[in-house]
Amino acid sequence: MTLKTKTAVITGSNSGIGLGIARELARAGADIVLNSFTDNDEDHKLAEEMAREYGVAVRYIRADMSKGDECRALIAAAGACDILINNAGIQHVAPIDEFPADKWDAIIAINLSSAFHTTAAALPVMRKAGWGRVINIASAHGLTASPYKSAYIAAKHGIVGLSKTTALETAQEPITCNAICPGYVLTPLVEAQIPDTMKKYDMDRDEVIKKVMLERQPSKEFATVEQLGGTAVFLCSDAAAQITGTTISVDGGWTAL
Ligand code: NAD
Repeated sequence: MTLKTKTAVITGSNSGIGLGIARELARAGADIVLNSFTDNDEDHKLAEEMAREYGVAVRYIRADMSKGDECRALIAAAGACDILINNAGIQHVAPIDEFPADKWDAIIAINLSSAFHTTAAALPVMRKAGWGRVINIASAHGLTASPYKSAYIAAKHGIVGLSKTTALETAQEPITCNAICPGYVLTPLVEAQIPDTMKKYDMDRDEVIKKVMLERQPSKEFATVEQLGGTAVFLCSDAAAQITGTTISVDGGWTAL
């Protein structure tokens, strides 16, 4: 599988799942545009290191995915956009009647509306190039719900719907759009929660992972960023040309329950 000649733009990709997907696309030969809302030396160094490691062009472009005009500017600055991975996301946990309205707005903007803006800007670029892949990173929470995550779950169900509409509007073109629905993934963000949870429940690391974090994940194993990257590379392959408007769960059986 080679993605040489393709350029992939991955939103929210200076850590976690976005970075893992960027690495697998780079390994497959794609040029990469990394993104986040920061503009630190480390962001640009990360791009330089990846370019050296994979022998592809890697740029870091700052853009805040909570702002529609910056989402569109990211695609314009990228120049090419054959593969668009809408990955940027944040979380906040609170009951609905206590959920801060500004957190609701931020989650809907970053986790859902950003994908509308980047997709709107990218489709004309893909049409001109005659090929395109839009991959939205939803969640098992795009297909099921949990209490106290109203904004996240509304946004993730919304992005599954947006993926289906994008697929229908591009169905007769060489462009596909799908949503990947990860279960629990061991990103630095999740790793950082383990020590506190061990203290809170007086459990060892293994118990925290299996009994608390992976309570709903029947495999009792985290999905990895490499597995998500591999799924994205598959969706970019010719074998996946007729896979459009659907969800692919990478969740250790969560949504089979
Ligand atoms: P993470 O915090 O490591 O990554 C989130 C990325 O989004 C970071 O690069 C961050 O800088 C970026 N980001 C945040 N706000 C932004 C903004 N305003 N503009 C631009 N970039 C912004 O978390 P992650 O676990 O890698 O999550 C990535 C995606 O995967 C999210 O959409 C998340 O909902 C989804 N997801 C994660 C899990 C999991 O268990 N980790 C499970 C299912 C879905």
